[in-house]
Amino acid sequence: MEIYYDLHIHSCLSPCGDADMTPNNIVNMALIKGLDVIAITDHNTSKNARVVCKIGKEQGLLVIPGMEVQTKEEVHVLCYFEEISDLEAFDSALEPYRLKIPNRPDHFGRQQIVNHEDQCVGEYPYALIASIEVSIEQLIELCKAHGGVCVPAHVNKSSNSILANLGFMPQALKVRTIEIHPKSPINETLIKGYQKIYNSDAHYLEHISERANKLEIDEKTISKILNYLSGEE
Ligand SMILES: [Zn+2]
Ligand SMILES: [Zn+2]
Repeated sequence: MEIYYDLHIHSCLSPCGDADMTPNNIVNMALIKGLDVIAITDHNTSKNARVVCKIGKEQGLLVIPGMEVQTKEEVHVLCYFEEISDLEAFDSALEPYRLKIPNRPDHFGRQQIVNHEDQCVGEYPYALIASIEVSIEQLIELCKAHGGVCVPAHVNKSSNSILANLGFMPQALKVRTIEIHPKSPINETLIKGYQKIYNSDAHYLEHISERANKLEIDEKTISKILNYLSGEE
């Protein structure tokens, strides 16, 4: 079956995410757009993921719990999990590697933790724009150890990407799928052999993908989607 997706969406917890990127707004917009599955992928934290997953379940939208981690190479990697508890365990495992630099909301943006009614119930205190002190290899291992799948984000973008920061895709990296940024130039020879996905990286509601990008899988479950992304079909 065809599953229309957008697997890279930020909430109002990401400092660069718009205040309107609340759980209910995200889920409702994804449904209006006609998507079958989304992933919630805030920078370096999972604190809003549980509520988005819950609202998705109530509204009939599949929501993959995820995170966009910035490694110590300043490379962005999307990490996806089957269960919210797996993501939260992974989040805790990252704790020793976090640089606890206080956020400056006026400078970097607010980092709002919200509840089921989209009300702000707290602010994440440390700057989420800072890297987490793990290497890409370490991150992939840690994600896998928690049952997750890594997808290097926007690999062809000119910043915070594997190709921009390392110059090539290291063959030793155990990834099957990479995310392509549709508006950046692509050097096809550098990404040969990888499976590719295309997401919005939305920080504003209106940027959430249209019903445009699809996966071909036999069952609409997170488990099947993760198997597809990891290549373990
Ligand atoms: Zn990114
Ligand atoms: Zn992003």
